[in-house]
Amino acid sequence: MSKNIFLSGIYHETHTFLGEPTTLKDFVIFHDEEIINENTGNGSPTDGFIEYASGQNWNIVPGIQMSARPSGTVDEESENYFKKNFFEKLKVSCHNIDAIFLVLHGAMVSTNHDDFEGDFLRDIQSFLSKENISIPIVAVLDLHANVSENMIKYSTCVYAYRKNPHSDSRETAVKAASILNDLFLDPNVKQVHLDTKYILPPTGVGTVNDPMKTILEEALKIEKKDPEIICINVMAGYSYADIPDCGFSINCCTRGKISNAKNYLDKLVNILEAKIKDGYPKENSLDEALNVIDNITEIKKPILLIEPADNIGGGTPGDATDLLDRLLQTNHTGIVAIINDPEAADACHKAHINNEVQLHIGAKFDAFHGKPIFIKANLERISDGRFELENKQSHLASMMGTKINMGPSAVLKNDQLTLLLTSIKTPPMDLGQLTSQGINPRDAKLIIIKAAVSHKDAYDPIASLSFYIDSQGLCTSNLKRLPFKKIGNKIISLD
Ligand SMILES: [Zn+2]
Repeated sequence: MSKNIFLSGIYHETHTFLGEPTTLKDFVIFHDEEIINENTGNGSPTDGFIEYASGQNWNIVPGIQMSARPSGTVDEESENYFKKNFFEKLKVSCHNIDAIFLVLHGAMVSTNHDDFEGDFLRDIQSFLSKENISIPIVAVLDLHANVSENMIKYSTCVYAYRKNPHSDSRETAVKAASILNDLFLDPNVKQVHLDTKYILPPTGVGTVNDPMKTILEEALKIEKKDPEIICINVMAGYSYADIPDCGFSINCCTRGKISNAKNYLDKLVNILEAKIKDGYPKENSLDEALNVIDNITEIKKPILLIEPADNIGGGTPGDATDLLDRLLQTNHTGIVAIINDPEAADACHKAHINNEVQLHIGAKFDAFHGKPIFIKANLERISDGRFELENKQSHLASMMGTKINMGPSAVLKNDQLTLLLTSIKTPPMDLGQLTSQGINPRDAKLIIIKAAVSHKDAYDPIASLSFYIDSQGLCTSNLKRLPFKKIGNKIISLD
């Protein structure tokens, strides 16, 4: 008989040190059939689930899906809106469904919940038990989820991305759906969660580098070798959440003995500890990077100046000027940069193409990302800022599908700089962001990248060299600069 699966999701990575809350207007919200119509073919995890469900002839019972770009703590109105709609819809259909499938991020913090997803899963289980319903709950998680004991205790199985950049987000949902299919045949599984004392900066958790690389390889070996292990999730965690569950954790779903699963997880934590130094990579000052760059006779392929402190995918505003300002004070040319500045983009839309504009750009969102800088440049182009991903498996697809909206945008150019101004902060995870605006990043000498790891699939192949530059901003890799209060004795630095 065909199965009925209740599908919903909430996706937010919350940076609790940002002053501005995330409000309802920041979320893209889909209700009911919209979830299916809007996600089908968009490369997202939900798209992956829809495809698998259709192959199994499952009947999807859509509830509510909300997603927002990484930003500050989610306000009360947004969390209440989600939960009210979710439980109203679940109440209508709960006696006619065979499972709940959730597409989550796993690092959401709201006004009333440090552990939003854990509390939400607990509320679902309590709702189901009042209705005398026992069905599997399977959830997809981002690799950066700050997993809590409750998220594991109150779900049947969670399954997380394995790659960072997240080129596998869609296939992760397909795999999670196939696990759900197996659960219909044999629902008897258990999950184990193992927290660690480490909070690693985003720059330390790329999956082509250690410690993630070796731990993931070992986890995969265990999954292949032991048929009782359904999955082992290596959770990098998301370091900009001042909550007790912040940090690196591992979990396992098994049909076998809990003690065996625990042994596996201990073994993986040993690898983490052996390679922990790689989890806190050193960054350069701009001067150190320029010392190297200035000795290169000819820059034939772009050099990336990566600015993790304003990592848009990590939640910061994308308008930090510290690095760009200092670079413009040198005699370097061929610089490409992107600054999110709705006010400056709007001014460009009111100006004349091919005329000079004079603007103060950037550092307008808050006081943590430098000072606005004065730019005099030719206005080359304006656009609505919409583009389609060049790489449909881009990290960006995991966050917002393949059609991206940067808001009204503009391109400025002067002797040193080609600058893209956007109105909606957009992580630099796909070259289409620049090429769609007439900028060929391959022609640049220096590209400023506001990211930590998620840019790598797009930009590493076109670059000759890259430097991680220590600059001002709330996604700093130096976690000691952040006023943590709730993380207890967790380790945020090896110094
Ligand atoms: Zn992530």
